[in-house]
Amino acid sequence: MSVLSAEQLTGRVRSHVLDSPEFGCSLHPEAMAAFSALRAAAAKSDIDLVAVSSFRSFEHQLTIWNDKFHGRRPLLDRHGRALDRAVLAEAELVRAILLWSALPGASRHHWGTEIDLIDRAALPGGQRPQLLPAEYSPGGVFERLGAWLAQHGADYGFYPPYDRDRGGVRPEPWHLSFAPVSGTALPALTVDVLAAALAGAELAGAAAVRGQLRDIHARYVCAVSQPDAAALAAVRLNPATRPS
Ligand SMILES: [Zn+2]
Repeated sequence: MSVLSAEQLTGRVRSHVLDSPEFGCSLHPEAMAAFSALRAAAAKSDIDLVAVSSFRSFEHQLTIWNDKFHGRRPLLDRHGRALDRAVLAEAELVRAILLWSALPGASRHHWGTEIDLIDRAALPGGQRPQLLPAEYSPGGVFERLGAWLAQHGADYGFYPPYDRDRGGVRPEPWHLSFAPVSGTALPALTVDVLAAALAGAELAGAAAVRGQLRDIHARYVCAVSQPDAAALAAVRLNPATRPS
């Protein structure tokens, strides 16, 4: 059973997250403790682990969505080129937004279990991370971070849900999920829970979203990798006493 309520799963409340001024992120208490231990372990390898994104609210995601729908933010195709909104039907517009942005209520970042990670120590002064797969691949600025996370993330309960393209969310090597909590959240975020969250929202393109909600749920919520056993087993360890 999920430890998160329907309102928490869809980011409409933030009663399930803690804010850490020290780490500059907001996470579920268990994920925060695990992230603290992960950060300390990474520091021993001279990696300055920083979460550039953590909890995001439904309202925040709704603003992004509506801005893209109405042309207040750029709309990009899967190659990152600007799209002409005028030639797209509403259903196509919805598809295009989903290439880069989650439907409000359907982002794993609502759960407080997800973090987008960079290594601040690897960034040349003044350079901003772009969050592109190439940065985490051999030759990229975060190559060492990518390898370190693949080797040690599971010891602290973290795993990459977007490890490869499954026809929905594209690969995101920077995105880690705290499996002991997110593993229970995923099956709890049903189509009905999502539909109920959207019913009360001022969502642009709502009719087009409703028409393909089942498919959106299958592709953008359910099509993720399974957490490995080591990441799930981390729940039985006290984060403070885990090996580092
Ligand atoms: Zn993310």
